[in-house]
Amino acid sequence: MKKSIKSIIAVALLGLVGAAQANDAYPSKTITMLIPFAAGGPTDTVGRLIAQSMSKDLGQQVIVENLGGAGGTLAAAKAARSPADGYNIFLHHIGQSTAPSLYRKLSYNASTDFETIGLVTDVPMTIVARSNFPAANMAELISYVKANKDKVTYANAGIGSASHLCGMLFQQALGTDLTTVPYKGTGPAMNDLLGGQVDLMCDQTTNTTSQIKAGKIKAYAVTTKTPVKSLSDLPTLDKSGLPGFEVAVWHGLYAPKGTPKPIIDRLTKSLQVALKDPNVVARFAELGTEPVSADRATSDALRKHLDSEIARWKPVIEKAGQYAD
Ligand code: ASP
Repeated sequence: MKKSIKSIIAVALLGLVGAAQANDAYPSKTITMLIPFAAGGPTDTVGRLIAQSMSKDLGQQVIVENLGGAGGTLAAAKAARSPADGYNIFLHHIGQSTAPSLYRKLSYNASTDFETIGLVTDVPMTIVARSNFPAANMAELISYVKANKDKVTYANAGIGSASHLCGMLFQQALGTDLTTVPYKGTGPAMNDLLGGQVDLMCDQTTNTTSQIKAGKIKAYAVTTKTPVKSLSDLPTLDKSGLPGFEVAVWHGLYAPKGTPKPIIDRLTKSLQVALKDPNVVARFAELGTEPVSADRATSDALRKHLDSEIARWKPVIEKAGQYAD
């Protein structure tokens, strides 16, 4: 009996030493950060800034892999099945919490198939249009869209994307059903908006700010209830015809379920370093966003936020009655 207790203790100690060694040695090779949308879009922009800074802190490259499609769910499914060895991480936004209600079938569980590393940033969205769209302000936009619902086209990054969610709420508020044009990300959607091939989009400030400031697209309003400092000319939707309208995009960093806790802790620490990196802070500010506070860039905070957002969006999506298979 005594012997077996001893051997259990010995095995446990060996396990601890092994875990500590694995932790000390981590990371020993390149880490891949999967991004669920095309390159050049807002999630990609946030991901690349964070990855660059985390690479410095971790002493290994964090490379970005883009896999757009099906509103981010293709990449989420891939991330959930990736080896849980600390070399696969996944950046997703609010779509991680809306997809479980929007899709009748998903091959992964957005909550239980992932370890949470931390929240990254909250990003306001903007209602924008091609530069020659015939509406000068929000009031004109509302009446034009209502009068031309069969004609107006709306770009999004597929069902489950933030641009889809914002568009769904916008159309619900206006009582319209616009023709939707889905892309693999709002990076390519922005190219078509700039080229005038599509009329409208609701997208994150991280993708729209520079084009708005350059006068290359029209901007009507922001989707948060508080105005956005870097786009101070724009009213809120709440105060410009759609009272109560409020949506903002949050990003979280994940790893596949089963990634060892010491590795998650190391990644959380690295995320926190990245969120304090002056380059990241400055670039975020230019793009109309800011890093979350250190107490939100934690595994527990993202876990709680994800689960509460899944619960929050379920009734809203049920009410809208838009599902995908
Ligand atoms: N964030 C965008 C969206 O959800 C997609 C992207 O990042 O390209 O609409």
